[in-house]
Amino acid sequence: MDLSPGKHYIVAIDGVSGSGKSSTAKTVARELGILHLDTGAMYRAVTFLALEAGLSPRQTPEIDALVKGLHWDADAQGKLTVDGRDLSGDIRTAPVTAAVSDYARIREVRHSLVPVQRSIGMRQPAVVEGRDMATVVFPDARFKFFMSASPEVRARRRVMELQSMNLPADYAQVLSNLSERDSKDSGREHGPLTMAPDAIEIDTSGLTFEGQVAIIVSHVLKNLP
Ligand code: C5P
Repeated sequence: MDLSPGKHYIVAIDGVSGSGKSSTAKTVARELGILHLDTGAMYRAVTFLALEAGLSPRQTPEIDALVKGLHWDADAQGKLTVDGRDLSGDIRTAPVTAAVSDYARIREVRHSLVPVQRSIGMRQPAVVEGRDMATVVFPDARFKFFMSASPEVRARRRVMELQSMNLPADYAQVLSNLSERDSKDSGREHGPLTMAPDAIEIDTSGLTFEGQVAIIVSHVLKNLP
């Protein structure tokens, strides 16, 4: 691991559900030519595996054992596998989305995932995205951004995204799921969703996708040694 200035850097992107974080982080990482780590995908994978094993969020010891036994891998682009399984399709389904905040709030789950996230992010320059990247996981990240957007804009975008994947999309239901996740993610004790005091806030309500990517990429390139 080479941490000398100019060699290793972290771009931490946190934000509310549906703010466009994931697609933005992915494109920023591609434009900078560095790894993209989607930590939401890790909490979603734990949720999928817990549901698959029939474990409710109250079964903390069983969930703790399940998460401790997992082996995570990220390829050069950051594509994740868990125990050799690619769960990228399974983790975007409605049952996982509805339940993920209830599993992500479990202290033991966060205690197991945070070190894995650090070790992947420290291997090479990376764009890391989630809820607690700039506050808990990488508090020393060189670049910190917090993405927000009004709930209505976020719900409209999510409906369009679901429709483009031919998945059922009900505006009222999507809006209520987003608000519920925001409130659970912000109100929890461990790793709550909150903006780091030294983060740059980007309200994407009135921005194009290209615009929000450009703000981050140009800021990073201007400030790299
Ligand atoms: O980013 P995404 O919406 O896929 O994240 C799904 C859920 O995972 C969030 O609602 C949150 O409960 C959880 N999460 C978290 N900490 C992170 C990333 C995601 O608790 N760093």
